[in-house]
Amino acid sequence: MKHSNISVFIPHIGCPHMCSFCDQRTISGAQHAPTGDEVREICRRALGEVREPENTEIAFFGGSFTAIPRDYMLELLEAAQEFLGEGRFRGIRCSTRPDCIDREVLELLKRYGVTAIELGAQSMSDEVLEANERGHTADDVVKACGLIREYGFELGLQMMTGLYKSSPADDMDTAVKIAALRPDTVRIYPVVVLKGTRLAELFYKGEYRPAPFDDMVELCAEIMSLFTEKGIRVIKCGLHASEFVEQDMAAGYYHPAFRELCEAALYRRNMLRILTTELPCKGSAVLAVNSRCISKAVGQKKSNIEYFRKRGYDVSIVGDDSVPVYECKLRR
Ligand code: SF4
Repeated sequence: MKHSNISVFIPHIGCPHMCSFCDQRTISGAQHAPTGDEVREICRRALGEVREPENTEIAFFGGSFTAIPRDYMLELLEAAQEFLGEGRFRGIRCSTRPDCIDREVLELLKRYGVTAIELGAQSMSDEVLEANERGHTADDVVKACGLIREYGFELGLQMMTGLYKSSPADDMDTAVKIAALRPDTVRIYPVVVLKGTRLAELFYKGEYRPAPFDDMVELCAEIMSLFTEKGIRVIKCGLHASEFVEQDMAAGYYHPAFRELCEAALYRRNMLRILTTELPCKGSAVLAVNSRCISKAVGQKKSNIEYFRKRGYDVSIVGDDSVPVYECKLRR
């Protein structure tokens, strides 16, 4: 069963903040706030196209859903109602800020069939949150997670890596603290510096210097591995491919297949460990990985095979469903 979303992007309406990295119009690709009728139209069309509506949610993403004007939030939720239930979509998911969660709004969301809430935690360091003008603390994240769980919603957490004043160690620490909150899902967003944001200003002034791209791939690979080991589903790693982002980017870590790069790095690391510890001498080796992951293990343009060839290993990859995702086994 494959879960999918019907995404409705809500621009930066009503959010009282301006985080250092935020240009919601570019990130969501949306400049127009959809009306209730437009939501109905999107859902009607999707219902005719989606193969498994019972595994599909209507997703209000892009801005801070519970921070938009209340009448508008209700208009959108109301519009979604006729598309929920038997033979229609499974529920609604939305993304919002940790300090825009309270009992009153959670009760409303529950009443309107919201099933999952994703919180933009971004960092669990108060210093990093403040430097990036998030306007909330790590403790707000912990409290909001507790309330969301108490009301029985599925919990998603989003974190960013490479933020202004955040070191790789801070990013790892954020990942560890997020994992401890036991979310059902996580999204990992390495920073993308968009023109016109405060982060871009800091970058042009030389006050913010993003680390090398490959280092960020390695770091995100490690973070993905940590979440996966804890049974937390990583539903996104890297911003979704978008022409807006490509046009408006000043610096940072955008790649249309960022997740695949991280997964290839993860396999490379694990394969290297197995080869150096279990193979007495260099030469040919057959490594088994989960059948769904053969292309991830091979890497883009066979980069991993090439990597090992240069180090004296002639590696072949085969599929074996008994091998967990991201792991590999040496075939004797
Ligand atoms: S809270 Fe979200 S919408 Fe508001 S400024 Fe920050 S990133 Fe943008």
